[in-house]
Amino acid sequence: MAEKNKLELLGLTFQELTELMRNFGQPAYRSRQLWQGLYRERRSSLEQLTNLPLSLREQISTQGYSIGLPSIQKRFTSTDGTVRYLIEFADGQTVETVWMPEGDGGEEGDGSESEARSYDRATICVSSQVGCAVDCQFCMTALLGLLRNLSAGEIVGQILAVLNDQQVDIESQRINLVFMGQGEPFLNFDNFVKAVLLLVEGVGIPESRMTVSTSGIVPRITDFGQLTVRPKLAISLNASNDSSRRELMPITKKWTLEKLMAAARDFPLRNRERLTFEYVLLGGVNDSVQNAREVVELLRGLKAKVNLIAWNPGPEIPYTTPSPERVEAFQQALIRAGIPTFVRKPRGRDIFAACGQLKRTTDLVSIS
Ligand code: SAH
Ligand code: SF4
Repeated sequence: MAEKNKLELLGLTFQELTELMRNFGQPAYRSRQLWQGLYRERRSSLEQLTNLPLSLREQISTQGYSIGLPSIQKRFTSTDGTVRYLIEFADGQTVETVWMPEGDGGEEGDGSESEARSYDRATICVSSQVGCAVDCQFCMTALLGLLRNLSAGEIVGQILAVLNDQQVDIESQRINLVFMGQGEPFLNFDNFVKAVLLLVEGVGIPESRMTVSTSGIVPRITDFGQLTVRPKLAISLNASNDSSRRELMPITKKWTLEKLMAAARDFPLRNRERLTFEYVLLGGVNDSVQNAREVVELLRGLKAKVNLIAWNPGPEIPYTTPSPERVEAFQQALIRAGIPTFVRKPRGRDIFAACGQLKRTTDLVSIS
């Protein structure tokens, strides 16, 4: 386990690092070197920050600082190549981060047969909190409850740990990030926003390759729209009317579908950008063609696309996965109404790595 009570460098902005170096009596260019070493070169220990003189590294250490890179406690590898990482932070808390080689789960492939090239394209699914407070009835993460928020440094750190483990060259490999792991990013908004800035400016992943998914924290959707640097937005719709959504996602009692859709309509989209709506299909619950028609009405006039996710099973959760025919019928109903609609291919279901399955399962015997 990493040491406790250390001050962590990861999470500090360029300005904050500059301030720190000034306090250490260092020339300004040292902050640029430290920033580069931490985020672009992803050095994992002070000893490895070899672009800094030994005396400075020692000074940083005696002042109580460490890099603060989380460690990889476990790896689970799926038959489809997906890897679920159990990432451990300094206080011993863990979250999951999922590595999905070859794109974004196949939801919007270019139609060509993609060769199984060695990972020049991959998506990382990122956690923003340990557990989640939102309590969606179909989601395994909800069973953990909210254990704590991740700091900006921890949000970034889990990504760096995975990039290092996969030996990613950020200049030549195309990495997408989806903030769709454990937690509700918009209930840890400031740390999430800070992490995005560090990832864009420090690590070198453009925000155009990032998507954040929210269960519908309405005031934060509005705040998010005002940011100059922001990922794309996905909204977890998951129901076609208010009463159904209240049951599936209790948060709907606070922020009704009407308020959520109003925020979506007001959301300032960039050139050629669309909102994404995710819709988990639960067999016999929200997956009828009538439900699809209601979704069409909800989305009328919006520049939107829909990602359908057939429910990923987990123990203790009383739903079923609809048949492929029912998924197809739902999809076709939306497509006929002119809404681009994709079915998200499940990734890593066999290792509990797929959407809604992240609850730190280590006993894989319970799968199936
Ligand atoms: N908390 C955020 C992001 C993480 S969840 C949110 O809810 O949007 C990412 C997606 O997985 C959400 O769209 C959610 O509705 C979906 N999901 C949750 N549990 C699922 C399950 N068991 N099967 C399929 N999708 C699920
Ligand atoms: Fe939290 Fe998202 Fe799961 Fe809902 S679906 S409980 S918001 S992680």
